[in-house]
Order: sequence, then C-alpha cells, then structure tokens
Amino acid sequence: MINKAIFDKESPIFMGSRREIGNCSIGIFGVNYDRTCSFKPGARFGPDSIRKVSPCLETYCPKLGKDLEDINYVDLGSLNLNSLESIDVINNVRLATNYLIKNNLSPLMLGGEHSITRGAIEALVDKYPNLILIQLDAHADLRSSYMGNKNSHACTMQRCLEILPEKKILQVGIRSGTKEEFKLMHDNNQLINFRSGENGQEFAKAISPYKNNPIYLTIDLDWFDPSLLSGTGTPEPGGFFWNDFEIILEELKTFNIVASDIVELSPEIDSSGVSSIVAAKVLRSLIMTVNNMQ
Ligand code: MN
Ligand code: MN
Repeated sequence: MINKAIFDKESPIFMGSRREIGNCSIGIFGVNYDRTCSFKPGARFGPDSIRKVSPCLETYCPKLGKDLEDINYVDLGSLNLNSLESIDVINNVRLATNYLIKNNLSPLMLGGEHSITRGAIEALVDKYPNLILIQLDAHADLRSSYMGNKNSHACTMQRCLEILPEKKILQVGIRSGTKEEFKLMHDNNQLINFRSGENGQEFAKAISPYKNNPIYLTIDLDWFDPSLLSGTGTPEPGGFFWNDFEIILEELKTFNIVASDIVELSPEIDSSGVSSIVAAKVLRSLIMTVNNMQ
C-alpha cells in the first residue's frame, strides 16, 4: 500500500514556477494517467505539453489585470500513474492533494483523464466540508458505471457527488450525455444553461447562493469547441470559445475557488499545438483566480 505521493521532478516546468514550496500559495502538479479513456488515449502527455508550450505566453493578463510575476506558485512535477489500477490512481491523487493542503498550497492539478478529480475531492472535503463543485465539460460524467468501471472518466462527477457532504455540483453548458444523465441534471437543478456567445447572467444567478462556499472548479477541456481545442480524447461539436471562458472567470473572480483542475488534454491529437497553448492559458488564468479570497 502506497502512503506517499511521489512527484517526478524531471518534467519540464510551467512558466515562472518555483521548484521549491518556499512562500508559495499555489501548487501545480501533473497526473500522467489515461487508462480508462474510452476513445483516444494520450491525456497522460497533457501536463508536460502544457509546461513545454507555456513560455510562449506573456506573464501579464490584460483581462484579469494580473501578472504571474506578482504571484508565488510552485510546480511540484508529475505523478506517473499509468501502470496503476484506477483505484490506486485515485489514492495517489488524494495523497498528493493532502500533501499540498498540509503545505498551505491551493492545488491546481493537470490531467490526465477526468477520473482523477475524485482523488482531489476526497482530500479537500476534510478541510472544506461545505465544498461545492463547478464543472466545465462537454459531457455530464454522471454514469454510475461505464464499460464495467465505476472509476471511469464517464462516472467521475457521480463519484465526486457521493463524497461531497453538500451534494452540490453546478454543470456549465453540458451538451452531451445519456437521457438519464440529462434527467438527473434537470431533476437536481444541476445544469446551468449557458451557450457560446451568451452573457453570464444565468451563470451568475446560479452561483449567487454559494458566495460563502469554498469552490472546486474542474475544467474538462472538451468543454471548448473542437475548432479551438481539438487535442482531446472525446471532442464534441457545439462547444465554447475563449470569450465564453472569460465570462465564466469574470463571474467567479469574487468567489472562493480553493482548488481546480484542467483535464483531458491529449496533445498529440492536435499537431498544430494550439490545444496545449489554450490549456496553458487556462492554467495561467487559474493561477490568477484561485486563492483570491485569502
Ligand atoms: Mn468531457
Ligand atoms: Mn469529463
């Protein structure tokens, strides 16, 4: 039984990150894992691809009015978990997240496939019992089991919901799932209607009761339209663009986001490399948005 997460520090590093925790308040780590992937594997290469392309971005974000140079964040490296069974992967992610929490770091986790989110949530609910989940994704991920595996990426939000004491998830602009999943989202008031090009009014209304809750933001990159981000295992037409993401962030920036993840980048599918750059810019935005309340 493993009782300690092992970070591989040989990987490249995200722009401007420290390698040592020091006085950092945000911790980045990667999870190289894609074994339950149902269509095209490759998400295990996501974290390093984000790191490699990151120097092409500026450190300043005119939209958020912040500069990475004013923020202390550490890149702890990656967990190499692709030889493990899914339940051991989740345990490792939990241990890694616990390590960050103990060191007062807000976790920013890079996948890897979406099933890893459960491990982070397991660690965080001890510190934040009233944690709620906000999900950007093309897919509902609410199946109780998929291809015989309860820990599949297609079940990940269902598993997280079972762990969250508040049982609250807000699913933003989901456009793919089974009839049962959509019924579940409607019955539990979980689906936030949001379409590309709309303003953030519906989203702002949906999140307004949670001003005092700690929030975990999980970003499955297939939320974006495949014409912007094609490097993902299960692309879904009819998705979102960068302006839509900025609208979501604008609403969230006065909320208490305590941790976040970016999952399902499969860089080799997109030979242009643009998908990795979009993912790196998402990470830059999150570094500027988590921890805002502290
Ligand atoms: Mn998805
Ligand atoms: Mn997903």
